[in-house]
Parts: sequence; structure tokens; C-alpha cells
Amino acid sequence: MNNEEIWQAALTDLEVSVSKANFVTWFQNTSIATRQSGTIVLCVPNAFVKEWLEYKYHKTIMKSLRTLCPETRIVEYIISSQLQPLLQKQRRERVFEQREGEEQMEFKELLVDRDTNLNPRYTFENFVVGSFNELAHAASIAVTNNPGRVYNPLFIYGGVGLGKTHLLQSVGNAVKKTNPKSKIQYLSAERFTSELVNSMQNNEAHLFKEKYRSFDLLIIDDIQFIAGKTKTQEEFFHTFNSLYEAGKQIIFSSDKPPQSIQNLEERLRSRFEGGMVADISQPEYESRLAILKNKAISKEPQPSEEIIEFIAANVQKNIRELEGALNAVVARTKLSGRVLSIPEVKDILAKNTQPKKMVTANQIIKAVAEFYGVNEKSLYEKTRKKEVVKPRQIAMYLLREDFNGSYPYIGQRFGGRDHTTAIHSFEKVSQDIKKNSQLYAEIKLIRERLYEYSVE
Ligand code: ADP
Ligand code: MG
Repeated sequence: MNNEEIWQAALTDLEVSVSKANFVTWFQNTSIATRQSGTIVLCVPNAFVKEWLEYKYHKTIMKSLRTLCPETRIVEYIISSQLQPLLQKQRRERVFEQREGEEQMEFKELLVDRDTNLNPRYTFENFVVGSFNELAHAASIAVTNNPGRVYNPLFIYGGVGLGKTHLLQSVGNAVKKTNPKSKIQYLSAERFTSELVNSMQNNEAHLFKEKYRSFDLLIIDDIQFIAGKTKTQEEFFHTFNSLYEAGKQIIFSSDKPPQSIQNLEERLRSRFEGGMVADISQPEYESRLAILKNKAISKEPQPSEEIIEFIAANVQKNIRELEGALNAVVARTKLSGRVLSIPEVKDILAKNTQPKKMVTANQIIKAVAEFYGVNEKSLYEKTRKKEVVKPRQIAMYLLREDFNGSYPYIGQRFGGRDHTTAIHSFEKVSQDIKKNSQLYAEIKLIRERLYEYSVE
């Protein structure tokens, strides 16, 4: 076997032990540069990839190469720009290819497919997987490989900017690719609602029905918007049933799990829960770093390792903000024509992001009321209705835990209740949260909405 064949065989082996997105991110444009007396030097496109392979995948790579060439003792990595002139020429060609690819990518932003509403920019290939989105990603892959058969519906939920739309559209794009004939439709729940209303106003409800029952794969983003819309929920229920019974795949995203969507018909809620429910949480440091590295590869000028790490450490809220911070830093570097210092980067982040704010009691109460879809005023009233009691107790809990309010203050804040009521609420929620993972998740989501990330 020559070097190329060896590396191809190794890649085939590596592909199964690494997730697809990571594989594409870290192994594309790699090759064997030299192989001599037990040492294999791998050529990699840039410093990020070099570090990542050394740090994360060295053992796996070593193992694959040893199976193929048992004499291998050492594996080293070299950035392609550090190879001799011949290899440099190849690199130039490769970089050129990448540039072209990049421009196409930007152009593609505008290219939302008219039939499906899918944006080709969202693919599994550029979706980074970490522990925060692993389950949602695995479920999406399963559904892509077997639409209508494994998890139906697939319900993905999580806070804003965490990759729900990206993941949902990746499924659509991947299914379209393997099966160009399949009828796919991506749309937001808001758009579904407005189309329905329009069709009814124009006496064309039958056309609407026909249209939505003809899809093989229906993807509805931000389904929480149908909360409280009775007519939409009813029509949607029938659409859902007819697609489901015909074995067609349905995928939803939402900012909260089905159980937490208020004003949702019970029969719909139980449909949403009938397949697979998977969450995407906030990415931890390692995942933020991987995402940034992945996105930085296509940036010019490429920010230094140190800067990337600084952004990953300081921008914690969501992936959209992470991308925004990276773009701001790259744009400023381009303008200034030199490498930025860490204090300068810090300055850019501070200007482009909101500092962690102290939340007020009002904001806490408002966020809780909004999350559970109850009227804020009802929290202050005497009512003991179940849908109000729970949010009220949670608001009291958060006022104590996050706002450090005294019990008499909290009691007072909720319609002049006694301080013992505040104590009881706080203790009840503190206990429940330990046993009830649903409640735990809800409070986590409320907090995610309440707090901005901090720049230190
Ligand atoms: P949501 O729909 O949850 O609000 P989006 O899907 O719009 O979030 O994601 C926000 C941005 O972050 C998009 O530009 C998306 O491409 C990017 N993004 C989200 N998750 C990932 C990921 N795991 N890997 C790479 N990019 C991601
Ligand atoms: Mg979205």
C-alpha cells in the first residue's frame, strides 16, 4: 500500500469511531506527508487541526495506523505550510479550492430552496457535536437514515441560538440529498398558522389540507407558537394524524419540552410526546471551543489560538453569540491589519455583547409568568388554581435563590402573603427539584432566558 492508500484505509476506520461532524471538521484535507522507519508524519491544513488531532484523536489515529502498518512507532503532525515547495504547491491548489467553496457558501445563504424552504447552509457536516447536543444529533441522524420509521415525531427543544433550526434543516437537506424525489417541507409554526388563516379567509382551506397532507417529511420549527391558537391546533392535529398514519416523518422544534407548553391541547401534547423528545442544552467550554475552531477554519485572517480560547471562555450564552463574537473579532483584525491583543478582544466582546445583568424581582416574575403562559397578575391573586400555584411557587423560589429576597419581602411581593408561605414555597421547590427532572429542566430553561452571559 502506498501512503495514500494507507491513509484512506485509516480514515475509513476513523470515520466509524468519530462522529460525522467531527470527522469532517478535523480530518478533511489531511494526508500522510512522509512515512519512514516507523515514523508517520501527517499533513494537516492548519494549526487548529494539528492541535485538535494531537490532543483529542492521537490515540485513535495511532491505533488505526498501527493496525495497517504494525511497524509504526511515532505519529507526528505537520501543518501543510511547513512542508517543502512541492507540497506547498498542492496546498495552494487546495486553499484555492477552499476559497471557492467558501464563496459558494456565502452565495448559498441566499439560496433558500423554494419548494422545501430549506437553506443549504445548514448541514450535518458543519454541525459540531458535543455532550450538550449529542442526543438531539443522534436522534436526527437516526431519523435521516430511516424517515418515518424510528422516532416519529422527533421533538427537539432548547433555548435560543443553540442549533435547533440548524439541526432540523440538516435532516431536511440530508434526506433531500439521498432521496431527491421525497417531498419535504420546512416552515415555522407561525408561518403554518398564517397560511392556515389566509386559506380560510380565501375559502381555500381544502387546498391547505391537501398541501400539508402530501409531504413525506414535514419539519415545523418553533412549534410553541401554536400555543393558545385553537383553530391552528385543531387543523394541525388532523394534519399530524394523517401524516403519521401514512408513515410520514414529522419533526418539531420548540423552546421548551411539550409538558411545559401552556395552552396546548392535551391530545396534541400527547402526540408530541409519543415519539422521541430530545433536548439541546448550553454548550460547555470544550464544545464552545470546538465550535469556534470549526468556524474559524474558514475565516481570514485566522484568529490565534489564544484569542479563540478567550472567546470560548467568555462567551457562554449560545452559539449564535459565539459566532457573532468571532466575526466581530475577525472583522476588527482585518481592519487593523495586525494581530489583536487580549485586552482589545475583551473590549470588542464587551461592546458586542451584553454584560451579565443583575436581574430584578420584576424580571424574575415576568420570566416565570411568560414561561408558563400565565398572566403575571394572577400570581399575585389569591387563586389556588394548579396552573397558577406552580409558577407562583417557582417565582418565589427564584426570588429567594437568585435575588436573595427575604421571606417577608417575598410574601409581600405576592399579594401580601405571610412569610411562612414564602418559606413553604421555597422549601417545596428545593425538594421537588431534586426528584423531579422535569421541574429541574424547566427552572434551568427559565434561568437561561433570564440571564445574559458575562464578559469578565
Ligand atoms: P436556534 O434555532 O436553536 O435558535 P440556530 O439553529 O439558528 O439556533 O443556531 C444559531 C447559529 O449557531 C446558526 O448560525 C447555526 O449554524 C449555529 N450553530 C448552532 N449549533 C451549531 C453546532 N452544533 N455546530 C455549528 N454551528 C452551530
Ligand atoms: Mg431557530
